[in-house]
Amino acid sequence: MNVGIIIPTELPSAAETYAEAGVKIFRVRPDKAPYKNCRRCTKTLPDQQPNPEYIPHRPEECRCGVSTCHGFWAATTDLATIRQWWKEEPHANIGAPCKLNGWAVVDVDPRNGGYASLCALEGRVGVLPGTTMQVTGGDGLHILYRSPGFELPGEPFPGIDFKHNGYILLAPSIHASGTRYQWAGVPDVFHKPTTAWPEALLPRKDKRPVAVAPRPVRHPFPPAPAGGRPGGGKLWTVDDLVQHVMHSHQGNRNSSLYFAACRAHELAGQGLLHLADAEQALLSAADAIGLTSSEARNSFDSAATRPGDRRRAA
Ligand SMILES: [Zn+2]
Ligand SMILES: [Zn+2]
Repeated sequence: MNVGIIIPTELPSAAETYAEAGVKIFRVRPDKAPYKNCRRCTKTLPDQQPNPEYIPHRPEECRCGVSTCHGFWAATTDLATIRQWWKEEPHANIGAPCKLNGWAVVDVDPRNGGYASLCALEGRVGVLPGTTMQVTGGDGLHILYRSPGFELPGEPFPGIDFKHNGYILLAPSIHASGTRYQWAGVPDVFHKPTTAWPEALLPRKDKRPVAVAPRPVRHPFPPAPAGGRPGGGKLWTVDDLVQHVMHSHQGNRNSSLYFAACRAHELAGQGLLHLADAEQALLSAADAIGLTSSEARNSFDSAATRPGDRRRAA
């Protein structure tokens, strides 16, 4: 059984908790400035000349003994190293390389239309299988799956990145905006992703670019499927969405509500929940966490009128 792991709110103890759970992590400075490689691992000098001390090697085979060389290749579960790193820099964020942890991540960036793309994508392939998700400090979304074991295209859709070779920050890392990353569902509880990368997102054999089709015409609300959704993932229920809002932190109550409202609209569009039920429940939850009714109404309605939806309605 995939038991949730409670992640402490302080970065140094959170880092240890991930490592104890077997997640390979490394330090990421708040400004993301990389750590310099040691001399034996540095190929080119600052003046662009080749470094005579460089010993040619692949990052994954590095034996230099310096714990910060090669960016995310330095990621480890070694507690002594991790304690030392966060003792030196208690405010460092927690990075996790995706592929080295056996993960592949759908990274949704709202600044570039990622939610509209996700909406359109789910309209075409169905709601993605339920799995571990993280709300990023930038109001984006990370959807974590198990790695398919081979390369994935980097940016298949506007505002959506398939992260596999790269890394993600883990809650409670802090985004440049000052907002913390948090796990979706019950914040501060991390579940190791056990759901396989969705078949619908595998690269097509014929290599043609995958077109994002507009969502089909909305259909009348049918009864919820008895066996969950296709793909076998856990379905977000109205209750899950309410829990997500109720557990939001002071600084991201609005974005939590917006996130829940987006999922409600998406699932309602698929006929997987009843929008009126979700609306009533989410507005009550918003009231309970201290949002004004106009704030709550704005968040809920803006989730319904995201660019993707407007385009479809037009
Ligand atoms: Zn080195
Ligand atoms: Zn090296």
